[in-house]
Amino acid sequence: KNRLFINAVQEAKRLMSQAVAIGDVCLDATCGNGHDTLFLANLVGAQGKVFAFDVQQMALDSTQKRLQLANVAERVSLINDGHQQMAEYVHEKIAGAMFNLGYLPGGNKGLVTKPNTTVAALDILTELMLPYGLITLVLYTGHPGGEEEAKKVTAWADALPQDGWDVISFSFPNRENNSPILLAIQKRGEQC
Ligand code: SAM
Repeated sequence: KNRLFINAVQEAKRLMSQAVAIGDVCLDATCGNGHDTLFLANLVGAQGKVFAFDVQQMALDSTQKRLQLANVAERVSLINDGHQQMAEYVHEKIAGAMFNLGYLPGGNKGLVTKPNTTVAALDILTELMLPYGLITLVLYTGHPGGEEEAKKVTAWADALPQDGWDVISFSFPNRENNSPILLAIQKRGEQC
């Protein structure tokens, strides 16, 4: 037997691995140091594709190194632009999309994701998602602006029509120091 509830990122991955199959197209909206990009690249396999966005070259470089080490770089498109511009780059339907909000660990803590651009990206993404496609968001409230972003993103998800989308949130209420929250959003299938 094992611990079930490690943290929001692990929960996001657990759900994502149930929604994504070999050959799918996925999106990492905030690639940072590339942990989630690598995770998605492994899920989609050699026939699949991952689009990974970040606004910092340092993050893209770090992700590229990680992907090369794992021999999966050719199935990932790294894009140095904000995720709110995804419509310019992504024309495929998406099976899974991960957002890990906030700042780059080990980088500039002042350069954070912002409520308006995060929600703009989500609005575009809803049009791109496949039936049963899954969006996960890890929300941080411990840095300046984090609480406001978490509220705005949660309100956006709360307003999704329930006949089109299933929305859940996981929080860790007995943990100290603003433990991150997972928001997971699955598009309903055609016959639901
Ligand atoms: N998933 C990453 C990992 O596995 O290491 C961590 C992501 S980190 C918490 C958040 C990232 O979002 C930072 O690298 C930051 O540069 C990036 N970011 C901020 N605003 C962005 C935007 N509008 N579009 C894409 N990335 C953005």
